[in-house]
Amino acid sequence: MIVARPVVGSTIEARCTRCCQNLPHTVISVKENHLHRVQCAQCDWEHSYRPPLSLSTASMESSSGASEWQKLKATFAGRKAIRYSITRNYEVEALIDHPHFGLGLVRRIKGKYMVEVLFESGAKLMRCNGG
Ligand SMILES: [Zn+2]
Repeated sequence: MIVARPVVGSTIEARCTRCCQNLPHTVISVKENHLHRVQCAQCDWEHSYRPPLSLSTASMESSSGASEWQKLKATFAGRKAIRYSITRNYEVEALIDHPHFGLGLVRRIKGKYMVEVLFESGAKLMRCNGG
């Protein structure tokens, strides 16, 4: 994509090296008709211009983790969570309530004494009794 004569002070889309996402940036300086320094509208970080990541890459990144959790969370409605305890057994798909991590869904059983649980903050291995 050819940007016609970038103007200092105008707003363009660029990738913020601190926020790690495509965001509006204010053009700070231009060198030989190329974007040189830009400032992130979200965190005010001033950095060299980075072209925004392509949409396909960006959507792939955002489809993991957070949105998977959002989808899962919708299935929690009306379900009763089991209070987490290391002396208990858990089945795959069981909803557990952890005092520190909150609600989590058992994704798989890992060996005899571990279960992998997906919490809002990410997947974690938790101890369980295992029999
Ligand atoms: Zn930023």
